[in-house]
Amino acid sequence: MKERECWRCGKRLSPGGLVYVAHIRVFADFDGVLLEPEGEMDHQLKRLIDQMENTNPEELEKEVYEEYSLLLCKSCRDRFVDETQHPWEGPFRVPKGNGDLLH
Ligand SMILES: [Zn+2]
Repeated sequence: MKERECWRCGKRLSPGGLVYVAHIRVFADFDGVLLEPEGEMDHQLKRLIDQMENTNPEELEKEVYEEYSLLLCKSCRDRFVDETQHPWEGPFRVPKGNGDLLH
């Protein structure tokens, strides 16, 4: 059986042990707004075509949609969840003061 490791800390995940899977899907959002192209249309189109010709189709697809899974041990799972829910707080959490007190 293939040995599995935690994606984040590299710890060996023992068979039958507690393992978590983070399934990540990142995709381009469309808010229904089409921006008017600036400048000449021909020029815009040519640039877009040039760009596409020079980009690997796989790369192009990744820009629109990417999906993957991460295996995590229990402690990395806890940290991962915490950080994705509070990304602005960084690794050293500062307890939030009560903003209402300022008013
Ligand atoms: Zn881990």
